[in-house]
Amino acid sequence: MKILILIAAATALAAQQPPEQSKRPARPAGNTIPESAGDDVRGYNDTPQIPGQKWKVHDMDRPRARKVVPGPSGAPPSDAIVLFDGKDLSQWVQRGRDGQTQEPKWKVENGYVEIVPRTGRLVTKEKFGDCQLHVEWMVPKGTTGQGQGRGNSGVELMTRYEIQVLESHDNLTYADGAAGAMYGDWPPMVNPARPEGEWNAYDIVFEAPRFEDSKLAKPAYFTVLFNGVLVHNHQAQLGTTIWRQVAKYSSHAAEEPLSLQDHSQPVRYRNIWIRRLKGYDAQ
Ligand code: MG
Repeated sequence: MKILILIAAATALAAQQPPEQSKRPARPAGNTIPESAGDDVRGYNDTPQIPGQKWKVHDMDRPRARKVVPGPSGAPPSDAIVLFDGKDLSQWVQRGRDGQTQEPKWKVENGYVEIVPRTGRLVTKEKFGDCQLHVEWMVPKGTTGQGQGRGNSGVELMTRYEIQVLESHDNLTYADGAAGAMYGDWPPMVNPARPEGEWNAYDIVFEAPRFEDSKLAKPAYFTVLFNGVLVHNHQAQLGTTIWRQVAKYSSHAAEEPLSLQDHSQPVRYRNIWIRRLKGYDAQ
């Protein structure tokens, strides 16, 4: 009888314990990371101030996004332009590092395409302005490197406005360089990155910038769901994505190709589709 009472008491006590997921991991601050970790992990303190924010570009003291656990993902709707269905790269060309356009060299197999490092970025044949984009990506298991050197690629709207792709489940880097970041400007609001070897999904709503007489009339805006979790909510883009500098705009066409970045690391992509945004009444 005593044993039964003890078991009942222990069960009641266990029920009072908070569930495992309510234990929020500590937020690592840049200034607590040892100098030996390097700038790709710690960030920088010698970069310019981002206008309108209290942080410098790649600021080492900027808090990293907290981790959240994502749920499951999605297939193209009937009105989408399928850019990659796992079989071929017929919708793409490749732009080599010398700027020359060539046949895509990235490797298509098993329903995905994998970056062949240093062959150049993949660029769509079609051009897009305002759009809804779905992209899935994975950092292969066993990928080495750290900070910006681990699973780095990027989804580049209009070939110039980058939503960062990076191993960010178990890999620290500066806040505005993590997966889902509007690189060099806004970190994702939270970090729902899955571990390497698992697929991640971006659902991006993008409003292209508008120029009048080559001057910026309206900036680009990003709304981004990362594994179904909102990480940017109609956030204005500062300009053309750039490393260690404040981004600025330079005028371009109303529609430009989409590109996927080659950052010399073998990231995989699958299930890429896009919809042009035409407004409520357009057919
Ligand atoms: Mg990148």
